[in-house]
Amino acid sequence: MKREGNEEVDQDFAAKLAAHLGFEEEKVNHLFEKKYLAWNWGEHEHLLRFDKEISHIERGTVLYEKDGAFEMVLGFPKIRRAMVLYPTLEKQFSGLKTVAVEEKMNGYNVRVARINGDILAVTRSGYICPYTTERAKVKLNLSFFDDFPELVLYGEMVGPDNPYVPKEIYNIESVEFYIFDIREKNTGNPLSTARRREILEKYGFFQVRSFGEIPLETAPEEIAKIVRELGKIEHEGVVIKDPEMVLPPVKYTSSRSNCSDLRHAFKFYNESGRDYMLSRIVREGFQAVEWEESEADFKKRCMQLGESILAPLRESVRSVKEGQRLYDEVRIRVKTLKTAADFEDYLKRLGVDAIFEPPLPAGDEYLIMVRKVNKSTNDKTQAIWEGELW
Ligand code: ATP
Ligand code: MG
Repeated sequence: MKREGNEEVDQDFAAKLAAHLGFEEEKVNHLFEKKYLAWNWGEHEHLLRFDKEISHIERGTVLYEKDGAFEMVLGFPKIRRAMVLYPTLEKQFSGLKTVAVEEKMNGYNVRVARINGDILAVTRSGYICPYTTERAKVKLNLSFFDDFPELVLYGEMVGPDNPYVPKEIYNIESVEFYIFDIREKNTGNPLSTARRREILEKYGFFQVRSFGEIPLETAPEEIAKIVRELGKIEHEGVVIKDPEMVLPPVKYTSSRSNCSDLRHAFKFYNESGRDYMLSRIVREGFQAVEWEESEADFKKRCMQLGESILAPLRESVRSVKEGQRLYDEVRIRVKTLKTAADFEDYLKRLGVDAIFEPPLPAGDEYLIMVRKVNKSTNDKTQAIWEGELW
């Protein structure tokens, strides 16, 4: 079977995979051709990745052969955003008495599982990140996977030693995994919030903060209060869940975190997703109405929103005009320099233009600063300064 190019797929393998997924063989071939199904590379070349949602199989799902059959670690399902709390919660959670409210932490989404004997950390898109994998092995109580080989931990990797979403707001010195979900391999069925918390406690995992189960009736009011408080300390917001994890969760974020997302998004305006930017702007309009704010508070919101869009834009436009390159500076902390080298290769492979500074010893680990160059925003801004049209 050819693993690099995807164009030629061993037909026995395709047939076996088709039978497993309940697809026509032709469909499997088509998925390979379109690269919706793609192999990982290097030591993980035997792991397939869904690059698109296919027939209810989440994007980012990882699939591989195990004991002559297949096994899947499902992608983390998209969480829809509530623009207003009332009547959204009533409608989305209709039939429930209470909802479980948890803090939504701001880092990056990781799945950790035992895959054919190895503990691996999988990113949202289904890649095996060497940095995250090393951190998972250092940070997590791995005996969990001896006891529950069929379960997958879903969590947020948060803290400053973070190559994707570095944040100083959680009083974390380096980086930690905060688990928010446990699901079964193959089916993706989640554990109830109570069972999940019980297991996580037993193994001593960090878990996202719980605000408890709140009656659906009073939830909009109570959650508005919680989110206002979280906003004050620059925390992101909440995820509201069916305690049994049958109905899909809903997220709701603070204005402060919206603005902080926008600041980053507009700094690198040409690489940021349009929907990502637009949903966060539109949300401010809905929140302004729902929270019935005074004219003075509204003016404040306008200023904050406007500044979080324009200030980074002005900064980027000016920097490029003055001949500087735009980049994101992030930091990683590794046990071995091999992890850093593997991570450097990994980013290159993903097309991220990153410059790794020389490692600085930190205890028995190393700190490495990484500059991620945002080529697309650089090039676009440069072109505009050279007289090109939008
Ligand atoms: P989505 O994940 O909904 O596709 P997105 O990539 O824009 O959208 P966010 O807006 O950050 O992501 O919101 C969802 C993400 O929040 C999840 O993917 C997960 O990584 C993260 N998260 C943080 N805390 C929690 C929590 N308590 N429960 C569920 N997810 C959480
Ligand atoms: Mg996030």
